[in-house]
Amino acid sequence: MQQVLAQGAKYIKEAKALILTAGAGMGVDSGLPDFRGDQGFWRAYPLYQQLGLSFVDAANPARFAQDPSFAWGFYGHRLGLYRQCRPHAGFALILQWAARFGQEIFVVTSNVDGQFQQAGYDEAKIYEVHGSIHHLQCLRNCRPEIWENSETPVVDLTQMKAKTYPCCKFCGRVARPNILMFGDAAWQGARSAAQETRFHQFLSRHQPHSRLVIEIGAGQAVPTIRRLSQGLGREGARVMRINPREAEITAPHLSLPLGGLEGLTRLDQAL
Ligand SMILES: [Zn+2]
Repeated sequence: MQQVLAQGAKYIKEAKALILTAGAGMGVDSGLPDFRGDQGFWRAYPLYQQLGLSFVDAANPARFAQDPSFAWGFYGHRLGLYRQCRPHAGFALILQWAARFGQEIFVVTSNVDGQFQQAGYDEAKIYEVHGSIHHLQCLRNCRPEIWENSETPVVDLTQMKAKTYPCCKFCGRVARPNILMFGDAAWQGARSAAQETRFHQFLSRHQPHSRLVIEIGAGQAVPTIRRLSQGLGREGARVMRINPREAEITAPHLSLPLGGLEGLTRLDQAL
């Protein structure tokens, strides 16, 4: 492990650009649930286990159409959790490395929690591939608009029902989070598409071999982030995969079978 950490520290020092690719595991050390499997979801939300509902059953647009207060019970609770959450120290470590070594950072994440913005990362250099809970759209898409969610739904936690929830600012009907859900044909992807364009502009500023991808807590269940890291690796970037359960990756890339905060802390020590 010491050898891998030393090699990782060398990769960090040599990189001109850092690409941080993050999945749900990045939030675990901040105290956020990662909904890993039905059991992970039910540990976070025991009421849904009693009701026999999986994450897929709770997180889909049909649920918003059938019972918006129930759907907003789940999303309203998560919104409150994410707004209160303080990102763990690993977020700041990467910002410190970039400042110390003069690197530009871009974040690509499947997380919808807004933790990178909360931790002080530049909003213009974040690509949220599945959208953001902090933005809204009309459930019925009366207009292709996305707007910031400044509302705070009041949730009755005994029933996981929202007493109040956001409505569309154009037609007054139900609004939903601008998150790509399961079985979701109505997600407005324009905000994420604009972020993706900025990511490609960032890539065009940095030669493939000068890039270092630091992948944290991205699992195989929804492999979007892992595939992106590996694709960048094939183009010439070095990739460090930090993951306590599924860290395998082929050389010259590095595998760190550690949690996000521990992996980043130990890399920082190795620097
Ligand atoms: Zn509307």
